Amino acid sequence: MSRIVYQGVEGVADLSEALAQQDKNFPRVLEPGKSPGTVGRRPSGPKGHVYSHGLVGTTEVVPCYKAPPIEVSLGSSETVPAQDDKLREECGVMAVYGHPEAARQVYLGLYALQHRGQESAGIATANGYNLSNIKGMGLVSEIFTEDVLRKLPGDLSIGHTRYSTTGDSALLNAQPIRVDSTKGLIAIAHNGNLVNLGNLREKLERAGAYFQTTSDSEIIVQLIAHSKATTLVDAIADSLGQVDGAFSIVMMTRDKIFAARDPRGFRPLSMGRIKNADGPDTIVFASETCAFDLLRAEYERDVAPGELIMVSADGVTSRVYAPGVAQTSCIFEHVYFARPDSRIYGRWVQESREQMGRQLARESHVPADIVVPVPDSGVTAALGYAEAAGLPFRFGLIRNHYVGRTFIEPEQRVRDFGVKLKLNPVRNLLEGKRVMLIDDSIIRGTTSRKIVRMVRGAGAKEVHLRISCPPTISPCFYGVDTPSKRDLIAANKSIEEIRQFIEADTLAYLSLDGLLQCCDDGQNPQPVGQTGIQGNNYCTACYTGNYPTQWVDVEEILPARYPKSDEIQLSLLETK
Ligand code: SF4
Repeated sequence: MSRIVYQGVEGVADLSEALAQQDKNFPRVLEPGKSPGTVGRRPSGPKGHVYSHGLVGTTEVVPCYKAPPIEVSLGSSETVPAQDDKLREECGVMAVYGHPEAARQVYLGLYALQHRGQESAGIATANGYNLSNIKGMGLVSEIFTEDVLRKLPGDLSIGHTRYSTTGDSALLNAQPIRVDSTKGLIAIAHNGNLVNLGNLREKLERAGAYFQTTSDSEIIVQLIAHSKATTLVDAIADSLGQVDGAFSIVMMTRDKIFAARDPRGFRPLSMGRIKNADGPDTIVFASETCAFDLLRAEYERDVAPGELIMVSADGVTSRVYAPGVAQTSCIFEHVYFARPDSRIYGRWVQESREQMGRQLARESHVPADIVVPVPDSGVTAALGYAEAAGLPFRFGLIRNHYVGRTFIEPEQRVRDFGVKLKLNPVRNLLEGKRVMLIDDSIIRGTTSRKIVRMVRGAGAKEVHLRISCPPTISPCFYGVDTPSKRDLIAANKSIEEIRQFIEADTLAYLSLDGLLQCCDDGQNPQPVGQTGIQGNNYCTACYTGNYPTQWVDVEEILPARYPKSDEIQLSLLETK
């Protein structure tokens, strides 16, 4: 018999209150074999929604707290997307095996991975007997206070920070997801997007699977649960072989940690080690190596594409569950997503980005006085550009890091107010100058136009825009939130038309060959685990429209001139 496993409370002031409410108001005892609990309403208090859900043998607490909104409006309000006209990051995952404060270590790692998703976060821990899980909406530091971390005992832990890519964005789909199965308790955290789901979900439901979420990540766990393989590790390898798309995952049972990447290695996942003087080493996994630094973990190697690693009391073992598939790692991790202080696919992101800047200067320089990055994403490439062009690098735009999602506009509508709130020009640096602006992408073009206008408005004599990757012409289906083709400016306009739209004096993008060269495409042997793959080969589908998997959403890749059709859904794209 076991206790409450899943609760969310809304309408309370903070998380401590939510946690206090849970024990006081909702003791729920489940009988072994009893089906999940009901979704109910908190008996008292404003807007108190309670979600109760039970599985035998674990304690899972899902606190969701949302302070009642306070709104004082003096003018109109405007909502600013978190990444205005930027592609959105996917998710970050983290795992720790063999540390007395595993949850705290995962917390620190997730803190470093916060740029990969700010919508929700979760940490699950295990101590050999129990598997606890806490997840909530918001930033890692908002959810995991001292009180909350104390509720996560154990020396094994996995964690996740999320920006939703599939499934709705509610707490329900926050991760880790924990499932009680015939193979025992399993918790999973997933970065990426599966693409061949088809009717897999229905098939599993017909076979008796009960899905707790609408997230594609849970399909992997349900496949494991329904696998005919007799051992857990065989069942995991079996299930990973049945799905296609992008997945870097960490999984946990009561006493083991698993880490795996999809056979093409779309998303990064690295392995590190904390050396312990008086006992076995702690093994850690993270989406990016910047998460290792706070833990003082040493980077050991990447989890190779198609590799499944198991960490248990017997040590670290590895197997290749999908040999012989060509690697197509996401090159956009190097262009934009990953932090410059991370090593991705065995290569420093900072080095790639500086090289992109240098190459951009070699390919498309025109006379200018200063190089100015669009902060923060254009900074590293701008450093490389300035060096290659022999020009001074200047922070001519200052970013306000404290802008929230919603703000109050002045009574009198101000042109391009949203961007002005986030960025402000340094007039005395820009006035009378020929400015070389460096950014990492143009998606719809609207933000780029506002920035060009801002720099010109601050007195710049000329504004030249350089982009450190090729034009984005096609959406991503591998875990990156991109607009459909009809909303991507480069899919519908020539470079000259884009230049006119954004009102720049000149515009140039980095060539595809140049980008590949800057990321050492096919040249630099990466740590290979046991797959024997040498060198990095990249997915460049958002720049070429050539997708490495067969399944894509045809509706999303129609150019603007085609009428939107309700009939065209997920279809098979013939790729060469
Ligand atoms: S389509 Fe673009 S963003 Fe998506 S995985 Fe490929 S390179 Fe990365």
